[in-house]
Amino acid sequence: MNSLHAGIGMTSARTRGRMIERLRTQGITDETVLAALNSVPRHAFIEEALSSRAYDDFSLPIGHGQTISQPYIVARMSEILRNGKQLGRVLEVGTGCGYQAAVLSHLAREVYTVERIQPLYMRAKKQLFDLKIRNVHVRHADGTLGLMDGAPFDGIIMACAAPALSQALKEQLSVGGRMVLPIGTQEQFLYLIEREASGFRETRLEAVKFVPLLMGKA
Ligand code: SAH
Repeated sequence: MNSLHAGIGMTSARTRGRMIERLRTQGITDETVLAALNSVPRHAFIEEALSSRAYDDFSLPIGHGQTISQPYIVARMSEILRNGKQLGRVLEVGTGCGYQAAVLSHLAREVYTVERIQPLYMRAKKQLFDLKIRNVHVRHADGTLGLMDGAPFDGIIMACAAPALSQALKEQLSVGGRMVLPIGTQEQFLYLIEREASGFRETRLEAVKFVPLLMGKA
């Protein structure tokens, strides 16, 4: 590594450290989640022209009208999903650039992530491969109904908002499993769905703003 690259590496490690401190002040307490966000180079998932803003608490454009979620929301959803325990199989709907999937790779044994837009799928797959992340399986698919051939999952995360909760998706949770997702159109809220032996428990959490879930592959 030449000194220029070493310099960039050190700067981003420091900036990442500041992001972690900010997440703590925003109320994230799960140390495993904070460690995961500290170890994933967020700037690597963003085009170079925007990389100086990679660790700010904003969503940023990743092309094709889509965005990388802000660090707080990635941390918050991961914390809710994990609930203090190591995860087994996890599904993410809406890979985007692959950042949330990279974070999940530290929190779960196997991560399945689906993206409907082909160029985003290709870029995320390459980025995760280049970062030597081997427990994330990226698929080019419509994840509206989840991922049949990977189910059931201990955790499901949606990175795009549906107008309503789909029964098909709920059915892909294992008993004891948890799903975190935004629901709504103009006004959206984060929901936690827990599958218990006797049925599903739904809890409405905070207001959020996500890109919409769209049908079909593109
Ligand atoms: N997880 C990303 C956020 C990506 S934004 C991150 O780490 O930052 C949400 C993504 O969901 C977009 O890339 C969008 O194309 C995708 N998406 C929307 N509807 C979808 C569907 N039905 N199936 C799969 N992906 C979908």
